[in-house]
Amino acid sequence: MPIDVLRQGFVFRGERISFGSFQRGIHRPKQMRGPAALTLMTAAHVPGKQPAYEDEIDIESGTILYRYRAGPIDQPDNRALRAAFESQAPLIHFRGIARGQYHIVQPVFVTGDDPRSRTVFLEVGLPAADVRGEGLVSSPDARRYALREVRFRLHQQRFRQDVLRAYQHRCTVCALREPALVQAAHIVEDREEQGVSAVVNGLALCAIHHLAYDRNLMGIDPEGVVHIARRLRDERDGPMLREGLQGFHGSDIVLPRRLRDRPEPERLEERFDYFVRATDAA
Ligand SMILES: [Zn+2]
Repeated sequence: MPIDVLRQGFVFRGERISFGSFQRGIHRPKQMRGPAALTLMTAAHVPGKQPAYEDEIDIESGTILYRYRAGPIDQPDNRALRAAFESQAPLIHFRGIARGQYHIVQPVFVTGDDPRSRTVFLEVGLPAADVRGEGLVSSPDARRYALREVRFRLHQQRFRQDVLRAYQHRCTVCALREPALVQAAHIVEDREEQGVSAVVNGLALCAIHHLAYDRNLMGIDPEGVVHIARRLRDERDGPMLREGLQGFHGSDIVLPRRLRDRPEPERLEERFDYFVRATDAA
């Protein structure tokens, strides 16, 4: 969800209510009767910096760690956060996934409060299923699923940013640099790798080369040489096929400058074996 939309807030009983300034993490609209916050915000990961979310989201326990705001423990924002624990009020959690883009996790409940570490624990509930007086009623499986979804989106977004940056936003095959057409592709299936290393399982590819790679019409061997499937090489068609695909058969991909950003040969090999098996191109 783009921040411009969120900044509009929402209308309740004829009055516009703010979701918060998105400058600060904890927000309690002035119209709220109760003491609890309404929204919690976590800023997006800054490209190039180690993101914090890996420590913050724990699939096993099904919780998201959320830190108090700096300053006194009873300053207004922290009071509103802790009041959400006491009243078990449903909250909206905005997770920044890219500049100006938020993933919305709601409702979340504060299910633990640890003033010593200045941390609360959030658990994801399911819409409408959770507010029944006896607290959380969503099954642990459903909550874990919701949380996994959050982490997957964050991971996906970061993978995309890291890969595109490493390849300077160019298709590694044809060097196209149109942002709307260049995508981050996985070499082998995403096993939810964590950390910066995920970029070694990525390639920046334009839409047509991404699709060709995914459909095994194009392979990239461990040396970084492009192979076009024989079926396509033998075909006669217009310039798109000739120049966009056939013409790259045997050419080298353009690698990222930094060694640590380059694709791992083992992964390229694993994927290339699959390509060879799937086609007669070898
Ligand atoms: Zn391309």
